[in-house]
Amino acid sequence: MAGKQAPSGNAAKHGADGLDARLAKLGLRRDFDLILHLPLRYEDETRLTPIGSVASAPADVLVQVEGRVLGTEIAYRPRRQLVARIEDDTGILYLRFFNFYPSQAKALAEGVTVRAFGEVRAGFFGGEMIHPRFHVLRRPEPLPDALTPVYPTTAGLSQVTLRTLIERGIERASTAHALEEVLPAAILAPLGFPSRFPSFRNAIDALHHPRPDSNALMLQDRTHPAWRRIKFDEVLAQQLSMRLHYRRRRARTAPRLEDAHALTAQLLKALPFRLTSAQQRAWGEIAADLNVAHPMHRLLQGDVGSGKTVVAALAALRAVENGFQAAVMAPTEILAEQHFRKFSEWLTPLGIRVAWLTGSQPKSERRETLEAIAAGEAPVVVGTHALFQDKVKLAKLGLVIVDEQHRFGVAQRLALRKKGGDGDEAGSGATDRNNAEPHQLMMSATPIPRTLSMSYFADLDVSVIDELPPGRQPVVTKLVSDARRSEVMARIREACGAGRQAYWVCPLIEESEALQLQTAIDTYESLSVEFPELHVGLVHGRLPNEEKAAVMAAFVAGEIQLLVATTVIEVGVDVANASMMVIEHAERFGLAQLHQLRGRVGRGVDDSVCILLYQNPLSQGARDRLKVIYEQSDGFAIAAADLEQRGPGEYLGARQSGAPLLRFADLVADAELVEAAHAAAEVMLDEYPDAARKHLERWLGGRAEFMQA
Ligand code: ADP
Ligand code: MG
Repeated sequence: MAGKQAPSGNAAKHGADGLDARLAKLGLRRDFDLILHLPLRYEDETRLTPIGSVASAPADVLVQVEGRVLGTEIAYRPRRQLVARIEDDTGILYLRFFNFYPSQAKALAEGVTVRAFGEVRAGFFGGEMIHPRFHVLRRPEPLPDALTPVYPTTAGLSQVTLRTLIERGIERASTAHALEEVLPAAILAPLGFPSRFPSFRNAIDALHHPRPDSNALMLQDRTHPAWRRIKFDEVLAQQLSMRLHYRRRRARTAPRLEDAHALTAQLLKALPFRLTSAQQRAWGEIAADLNVAHPMHRLLQGDVGSGKTVVAALAALRAVENGFQAAVMAPTEILAEQHFRKFSEWLTPLGIRVAWLTGSQPKSERRETLEAIAAGEAPVVVGTHALFQDKVKLAKLGLVIVDEQHRFGVAQRLALRKKGGDGDEAGSGATDRNNAEPHQLMMSATPIPRTLSMSYFADLDVSVIDELPPGRQPVVTKLVSDARRSEVMARIREACGAGRQAYWVCPLIEESEALQLQTAIDTYESLSVEFPELHVGLVHGRLPNEEKAAVMAAFVAGEIQLLVATTVIEVGVDVANASMMVIEHAERFGLAQLHQLRGRVGRGVDDSVCILLYQNPLSQGARDRLKVIYEQSDGFAIAAADLEQRGPGEYLGARQSGAPLLRFADLVADAELVEAAHAAAEVMLDEYPDAARKHLERWLGGRAEFMQA
């Protein structure tokens, strides 16, 4: 590996340790960081434009001219400025500076030759360049023979310094043979090596020193073969690292949960519905994983209302019928409570005790639950974050189910993994059971576009439920300007009068939770006045847990007809009789959130409607979002639009801290490369482990070991 020395080398010359700090700010520590610090754009200083023809250069194309200074003056109208007049054989041009150093005024002395680079515009006295970059030529200087890269930089670090440091980094790496090709021919050839897919060294060279005849546009918009190579390499490193992690985990031991018992079959028989074929497929994939003595880490994805819970219940039963426990965890009390109800409804008739554990329950009840799960008397436990705590011991944990997984961090999942089997110190089980870890099933209602899932969830197996249970009524979405509020009131009165229920979601106020709470309370009060004949309820995040649960229970029971809510209802609440939702200030919500919220209605037999109240004027972004949510009901289509509008950050939640982020590749534009890298990673790990290691070292250096859970 090329030198680990500080990339600045001669830091002292550039003013002490400041330089290294600035480089660190850009993430530039190793030579390889410098090599991969790629230009934002390029400037063409390889050519001179005759002054006489600059006027015909298209606007915002930067041109370079060379001329002799005819005169320079400091003018004061309309404001203080430095103006130099230069000339070549073809014409005269003004260089105009509004901020300048005295040294610059001095340098532009009459008679010297300058080379200036900038944008030309038509000025009062003819062509002029505003704030050109320039230097004085003491003697004739050849033009550079490559385009000039412009690098991302930070205050106090000039392009010239950065360029020099990068050059030195490349030279050192080159001398140390660190730019050699590491990918095997079998990977390179199908990608179009070498014309469509250059060697690493050539790609680096083309990007840092592009020839004047290179396709500047392709370099700029990052479609050039050199960029293809760099992006592929980047995604490949990410894939290798995650698949390596996946393989190591698969090598560990987990209890084998066989399909040789009656309980799951009994549940399937007792359900009032048949599984959809998508549910059957997902359950089949999960069952196959559980039947192997290595930990499953599977993500179950399915749109809101697609029926993930029953699949999770089947998985829990599979653990129970094999003599193991299952822990089910949800990010909010409301959601956990709902799972508890569903699981109890399904499992209690089969003679299985479902325990309930949250931070808010009375101490005595909690102690009793803890004892029951530690003794193995409660085979299934449902709860919130409380399940993570040290005091919680499970006798024989075989499966962990995490709903809305993106709300939990990697560290929390790790904490749960360690709960398996350690209550078993008497060694009553087989030896390997003591270091066995539980299987994990993660669920997410946020549909994730394929390339994103392939990229950021490459260390997981993924099952998708891409079908809704039959008989669902599509939700009609209406966009209504706030000025027509009274019509909305009339619709609420009508729906609730006919025995149905409605949600009223309060505006999102990102900067202030307190303000959002106040808005919810105000809305609740005004709606209570507006609808004296209805029972209006209020639920928000600051409500004590018991109260929250009580309000939700009253809504489920139909005692509350109109529920005013902050976004706490976003996740997973299932009330079939609720057929109407009003979202106030819908323009403030993100697409994923709007989709989740809307998914709360349309769960029963009635026609459902979701009214998006918005306030004019709308920003372009808000307009785009509302258009998507109005036109689309498919979660995957919405997610794809969201990814395009906002980038991947939103989807990753807590995982973001674990996965190496992509700097160069774009999951939307470079989908083809993501697919190719995904496949290549498997081949490399199987057949070229040495190349895989070298590639990881090059791209991730010491950060190769980034994921623990
Ligand atoms: P989500 O995937 O959003 O968690 P749920 O598991 O809460 O969805 O399911 C939504 C509703 O659909 C629940 O009332 C559930 O009992 C019901 N359901 C699940 N599967 C089916 C099915 N195959 N047929 C009919 N209803 C189903
Ligand atoms: Mg759910």
